[in-house]
Amino acid sequence: MGGVWTRARSGRELGVESPYTGASIGVVPDSAAEDVDDIVVAAARAQVAWAATPVKERVRPLQRFHELVTRKAETLAHEVARESGKTLGEALGGIQRGLEVVEFATSVPNLDRGGALEVSRGVTCEYRREPLGVVAGVTPFNFPVMVPMWMFPIALVVGNAFVLKPSDKVPLSACLLGEWLLEAGLPPGVFSVVHGGPRVVEALVDHPLVRAVGFVGSTPVARAVHARATLLGKRALCLGGAKNHLIVAPDADDALTVKSVVDSFTGCAGQRCMAASVLVVVGQAERLVRPIVELASRLALGRDMGALIDAPARERLVSAIAEAEGQGARVVLDGRSAQAPAGYEHGHWLGPTVLDGVRSEQSCAVRELFGPVLSVIHVASIDEALALEQASEYGNALSIFTTSGAVARYVAERATSGMVGVNVGVPVPRDPFSFGGTKASRFGQGDITGPAGIELWSNLKKITTKWAPQRDANWMS
Ligand code: NAD
Repeated sequence: MGGVWTRARSGRELGVESPYTGASIGVVPDSAAEDVDDIVVAAARAQVAWAATPVKERVRPLQRFHELVTRKAETLAHEVARESGKTLGEALGGIQRGLEVVEFATSVPNLDRGGALEVSRGVTCEYRREPLGVVAGVTPFNFPVMVPMWMFPIALVVGNAFVLKPSDKVPLSACLLGEWLLEAGLPPGVFSVVHGGPRVVEALVDHPLVRAVGFVGSTPVARAVHARATLLGKRALCLGGAKNHLIVAPDADDALTVKSVVDSFTGCAGQRCMAASVLVVVGQAERLVRPIVELASRLALGRDMGALIDAPARERLVSAIAEAEGQGARVVLDGRSAQAPAGYEHGHWLGPTVLDGVRSEQSCAVRELFGPVLSVIHVASIDEALALEQASEYGNALSIFTTSGAVARYVAERATSGMVGVNVGVPVPRDPFSFGGTKASRFGQGDITGPAGIELWSNLKKITTKWAPQRDANWMS
């Protein structure tokens, strides 16, 4: 708060647990509404001078922050891995992706120059980009650094003060981000971190000085936060859960497809909003199920795959697998019996799991599972495969595996998801392309990164100017 670590007035605390071992690795404050008020008021004070700073100067601390994070990426990756259960490589990947948003944000002075036009004799219209004031970001457990970095670089560069409420399951990396932003020369109070749970989120959304909210998390909470914020007339973009379909056409390239599918459903232990969840094999593409199972069965926990976030996550997945089995799915790869790494037996581990012969109405084919579990559905045509994706409540990502440009185009044009991959298992758009889904994967207008992020965190003022009377008969003259 205001550039210094402050004890929460609530006096309450939240424990942080290692997904690898189940052991305690830290404690953070469980803040209350009055703590949120202190932080937001301090942020609002700092924002005035920040907004008055020219944008070409506002990007400087972000440029130094980029250098700092690049230099200390290993340290940050260790912290991310320690609290989220990712492998070090996955943690580094998320940091790299976050840095791309910083690169985009620091190019805002070049990208977003506004514009002016003489619209009538002697009359000029111009655009002026203006910040909103204090804005807040609420983020999920699965990307402790990347998802905050989807938000604050752009929000800060356009002149806002940003208050981050990281997931209470992974609150530690966010502290490093705060310290490094200060070290990079960001004025105190322009970026703050507030720890806590739902109470803090509600206090942030309700606070009269908080003008906009970015949220990333599960669909029920995204929907509720969006409703709460918009009822108060605030801007809110709330990204929710996902149920991503990977369609494999009969003409798919075997090697490319098998590797991409396995990486997609096992990466980050399947705890990724872009992870493969439903594999729809069309006709002869069923030949690829066996090599997918074989490749996934060779992944070792602790080496190739990280841990699940906590014990309830594992229990939820184990019961979802049992339920699918009870409904007639065949467990052709069973991660429940996978070996935990030696010395880490108390961690929350689940190996890659493949459920074959799943029917489209089964809950494992419809509900978000958020773990390394792939449900395989066999269909006879591309249209049948597409119909499954179109019927899904969610709309984050769809991928099509094919060697035919025509098939790829046909599917991409008819998919209802916001992000489509062609022979890409995790079709995350990279900056300057914006990230965002549709349907129950996104509540609110626009996307979170890229040019859409500039729109999210700012207003465009239109200024019309005339300096002298004009002789022509135009209504504006
Ligand atoms: P979550 O919804 O439980 O928590 C997200 C944030 O909301 C956390 O900061 C949490 O403290 C807070 N929160 C939790 N319950 C709340 C409540 N009742 N009221 C107000 N705030 C509350 O999500 P999670 O389990 O941390 O993350 C996993 C989910 O996030 C998955 O559903 C995943 O698909 C989704 N996700 C989506 C995207 C995307 O881009 N669409 C990206 C990453 C994760």
